[in-house]
Amino acid sequence: MKPRGEFFDVAVIGGGSAGLAAAVTAARRGARTLLLERHGYLGGMGTASLVHTFCGLYLLREEPGAVLANPGFPAEMAGLMIAATGLGPVRMGRVDVLPQHPVEFARIADVLVAAEPQLELRLHTEVTAISREENWAIRLAGRAGSLTVTAGMLVDASGDALVATLLGLDAAMAAVPRLQRPAYVFGVQIPRPLDESARLETAGLIVEGIRAGDLPDAAMGLTFRASGRLGEIFGTLDLAGGELGYDPLDTACLTNLEVEGRATASTTLAWLAGKSACWKSGYISHWPARVGIRESRRWLGETVLTGADLIVGRRFEEEIALATWPMEFRESPRGPKLRFPEDNRPAGIPLGCLKPVGLDRIFVAGRCISTDHDAQASIRVMGTCFATGEAAGRAAAGG
Ligand SMILES: Cc1cc2nc3c(=O)[nH]c(=O)nc-3n(C[C@H](O)[C@H](O)[C@H](O)COP(=O)(O)OP(=O)(O)OC[C@H]3O[C@@H](n4cnc5c(N)ncnc54)[C@H](O)[C@@H]3O)c2cc1C
Repeated sequence: MKPRGEFFDVAVIGGGSAGLAAAVTAARRGARTLLLERHGYLGGMGTASLVHTFCGLYLLREEPGAVLANPGFPAEMAGLMIAATGLGPVRMGRVDVLPQHPVEFARIADVLVAAEPQLELRLHTEVTAISREENWAIRLAGRAGSLTVTAGMLVDASGDALVATLLGLDAAMAAVPRLQRPAYVFGVQIPRPLDESARLETAGLIVEGIRAGDLPDAAMGLTFRASGRLGEIFGTLDLAGGELGYDPLDTACLTNLEVEGRATASTTLAWLAGKSACWKSGYISHWPARVGIRESRRWLGETVLTGADLIVGRRFEEEIALATWPMEFRESPRGPKLRFPEDNRPAGIPLGCLKPVGLDRIFVAGRCISTDHDAQASIRVMGTCFATGEAAGRAAAGG
């Protein structure tokens, strides 16, 4: 059968950490590759939702000094980000993380894509339907209307296992209230650096404001971290999860989260300005393009990586990357809970987690690969998404 419309060897759906890695890798291996993204920039949660730290890049270890866990694309991204921000890895408790700036992430992604003649990027393009004849037929919606392109191989890096739903297949999703809570990250400008004592003072003030009835209870989930740029900090507001019937796939629910995030952030910042010199001339400088979603649908793959695998640092014959981030549970309003593997051991991620059951010519990457809820709490971080994305791109381009 002749391909309909434009034909690509590989089409990657979603240009977040995983999709970027998949598309660049497939193109570098010679595959004519199409990268589809609904936003006006790449980076996914790392740009559109202002998530500002790369986790999962480094091995867990007691000794000082960060050691990269996965070579290849994750290491390349770490190097490019360090060169862009001038900031190296930071030890936070038992983990090493790399501060990343969303503005730099989007710019670096543009440069990486532009360097690949075999890679075609379509921003402002939403995938609305998928069918399979001899090749994959992908329906795209843009400002000019709809268009169908075809591809021999598909990578689902949508974060939400979108392709499973578009094909009418089952996907896994944790039941409320276990689903990881969403969060709203926003940018703030303040005249002085937010040092440790200002941070502690702010936390105390917020508690005081809630007790006095001046601030909503939701303000309790608000924390701040310096971005590394003069006067700029990020506020992260953990939002209500399961206890209020949270559904990350329901646009009415997502609408409420966006509005609640902005309202709580604005009220709290205005109140803090009247209480502390540190916040007096502070202001919110930018909102995210979308609320941060930590967990939604997961693919049902040939292998399902589990929390039990991660705890013992299980290794697999056909593994494509290492998962090193502790399982980070954000299910409760009482804050995060981390579960570390025995002896800081990394676990393998087998290729089977990237291969949907009963389908060929498709690979999955990023936070929606085939895992249980517990393992997703580790593999969802961007350092690991770069690694699963790279592996999916390599596999889609023929190994
Ligand atoms: C509040 C919060 C804090 C976090 N903190 C950290 C942290 O500190 N460190 C860390 O490493 N990770 C963190 N994470 C996790 C991490 O950010 C995400 O799990 C990771 O970015 C997921 O990458 P991804 O590529 O799988 O998906 P995403 O980044 O969600 O990318 C998916 C992309 O697909 C696009 N897309 C979806 N559907 C379509 C469609 N139909 N058509 C076209 N495009 C589509 C989306 O627009 C998006 O760009 C955090 C997450 C949240 C929400």
